[in-house]
Amino acid sequence: MDLIYVVVGIAVLLVLTGAFFYFRRLDRPGPAPTAEDVAVETRRAPVGINGRLGKSRTALGGALRGVFGRSALDTQFWEAMEEALMGADVGVAASAGVVERVRRAKPETAASARKLLEEELKAVFAHTERRLSLDGNPAVMLIVGVNGAGKTTSIAKLAGRLIVEGRKPLLAAADTFRAAADSQLRVWAEQVGVPVVAGKEGSDPAAVAFDGLSAAKARGRDVVIVDTAGRLHSKQNLMAELAKIRRVLERDGGTVGESLLVLDATAGQNGIAQVREFANAIGLTGIVLTKLDGTARGGIVVAVEQELGIPVKFVGVGEGVDDLMPFDPDAFVTELLADA
Ligand code: GDP
Repeated sequence: MDLIYVVVGIAVLLVLTGAFFYFRRLDRPGPAPTAEDVAVETRRAPVGINGRLGKSRTALGGALRGVFGRSALDTQFWEAMEEALMGADVGVAASAGVVERVRRAKPETAASARKLLEEELKAVFAHTERRLSLDGNPAVMLIVGVNGAGKTTSIAKLAGRLIVEGRKPLLAAADTFRAAADSQLRVWAEQVGVPVVAGKEGSDPAAVAFDGLSAAKARGRDVVIVDTAGRLHSKQNLMAELAKIRRVLERDGGTVGESLLVLDATAGQNGIAQVREFANAIGLTGIVLTKLDGTARGGIVVAVEQELGIPVKFVGVGEGVDDLMPFDPDAFVTELLADA
């Protein structure tokens, strides 16, 4: 009899001990979240372009409303349409081309002319690959652009996006010319939770870029985003330096999958000249068009693609870290013409 009490006692003791350890394990916190986990958790869901084009939408919409309000589809009608597009910085050649194609389709009413205009603008952007090319381990992205275009901000925004997509970016601060460029980049990097490799002010930018690449390999980071100078003593120096950075990154069979130009949409037609210069110096795989929220000249996107054939891959629509979105041409054109 006594033996039964002892056995039951031991069994109860074992169950209680097991339960104690089981519940204690549940209570114990998991590993501390990393900066990246926090960044991913706090990142907002990406927002669309709807309502973000502000002045461009009102300006072009207003001008086109005047056009579509005309009673006859006569010469003045087509001229006014072309002027409205040029006013939004669509560019002379691109505006003339688009209007000519709409006109040739012989619409009979203003409403069908509007519909055709929307289709023709969308057609400018068709069949272009806009996804980032992130092959290579690590994949390498070279970011260029003049000072003030929004390069630092866009790099942070891009890094933030990549983290949300499960990538592990690392930033190389190869703008060693501008005082405190790396500290500006660091502030952003901390906000999005990415490591930065920097050199001393005045050090060789190509060496910093290469160190970034080596550090990424050593630390298992799968994308290196290289920030570069936007201004040097002369334009030739700048272009030569960018070409050198590219060569160094491509040493030992490496590839620069993306060389993106950060372009300020408010630069207007002047921006087209910038694109040409950078494209000639290092070759461009795409454009990040910033400040689309603050300009009435959003039509520059059409001019860039139609005249230069370089895809706009991302657009910046604000100063916050989430205000960068992949360029969606259909949504963009619809929004641009929403008030027309
Ligand atoms: P950088 O000199 O090219 O590195 O330019 P920064 O990244 O420092 O940006 C210059 C200014 O433009 C800053 O005040 C940014 O907040 C602002 N900026 C950058 N991108 C955008 C954008 O898409 N929209 C708006 N409204 N401001 C932007």
